[in-house]
Amino acid sequence: MSQKSETTPAGRIARLPAQGMVDLHFDLPMDLYEKRNRGNILATEFLQQVEVGKIGVIGAAIYIEDRYLPEMALPVALGQIAQLYAGTDQCGRFTICKSYKEIMGARAEGKVALLITMEGVEPLGSDLDLLRIFYELGVRSIGLTHARSNAAGHGGIFASSGSSPAGLTQFGREVVRQSEGLGVIIDLAHINPAGFRDVMQITTKPLIVSHTNARKFYDIERNISDDQIKMIGQRGGVIGVNSVLVSPRKEESTLDRYVDHIEHIASLIGIDGVGIGFDFFEFIYRQWSDEMKNELAAKLTEPHFISDLSNHSHAANVTQKLIERGFSDEEIDKILFRNWMRIFEELL
Ligand SMILES: [Zn+2]
Repeated sequence: MSQKSETTPAGRIARLPAQGMVDLHFDLPMDLYEKRNRGNILATEFLQQVEVGKIGVIGAAIYIEDRYLPEMALPVALGQIAQLYAGTDQCGRFTICKSYKEIMGARAEGKVALLITMEGVEPLGSDLDLLRIFYELGVRSIGLTHARSNAAGHGGIFASSGSSPAGLTQFGREVVRQSEGLGVIIDLAHINPAGFRDVMQITTKPLIVSHTNARKFYDIERNISDDQIKMIGQRGGVIGVNSVLVSPRKEESTLDRYVDHIEHIASLIGIDGVGIGFDFFEFIYRQWSDEMKNELAAKLTEPHFISDLSNHSHAANVTQKLIERGFSDEEIDKILFRNWMRIFEELL
């Protein structure tokens, strides 16, 4: 490539991010589990999009749908992890990683690194010993709750006020302390404001918010305020920007608004504090019945998918938009790759 083409937008998009993008939140395990009777879903339904988007690392989130609670939470979580292992056995282009070193090794071999994460600790029930078991299985990041309450705490609701005023339970505090001790990244996505404060108080290491948006643009307690953004920044943490809650309005749910969130977080805490947590969900939503869609709208919200940022094959559109909006190569590399890698290096 000539020097000139290196500096054109097309040249820069081809080159950035040099080592592949990190997307720290993807509901992959749930889909693999639901399709467990079919073969090699990773290769047939995900590989192409991930390769087109140059995705290098994916946070694969264990999540338990309401219909499995409470009795089936543990077996379904184990089933989801089993499908990740079976899937990576079948499709060698993906590999499960448990440390920074393994992630680097996977990238050096051109493989997509899967980091197993947990969104809501329902699979633990109220048994702290299970935290260690999930750690042994490869879980390396834990968010205590989804929108609902559980044995650890309470989720932030999809409204500007009204989440539970209660913080973490004793069990929730223990999960956080032991996670920090084990070397599990603590993820503040979804937690209510009171729980957020409690986690800040009882931890010392960097904290992350794997997939969220700024309340400045979408004012719900499921998202995070400027004060919360600053708290993550002061701790040296990283905030992954979510693609499905960029605006309450469909017409404002655009790629530009997605980058507005990145810009806003960077303006508050610097470029080192912002990353990607796409939370691509349309592929699951599409499979749902109207009844399930209505239930989601009633319980949480109606998602507004961004048409040119709704799956991993669209990832380069973010790179392009960041270039258009004046970000430098170094800044883009940090947002798309290096900031999350710094967290992995420090904590895993
Ligand atoms: Zn989520």
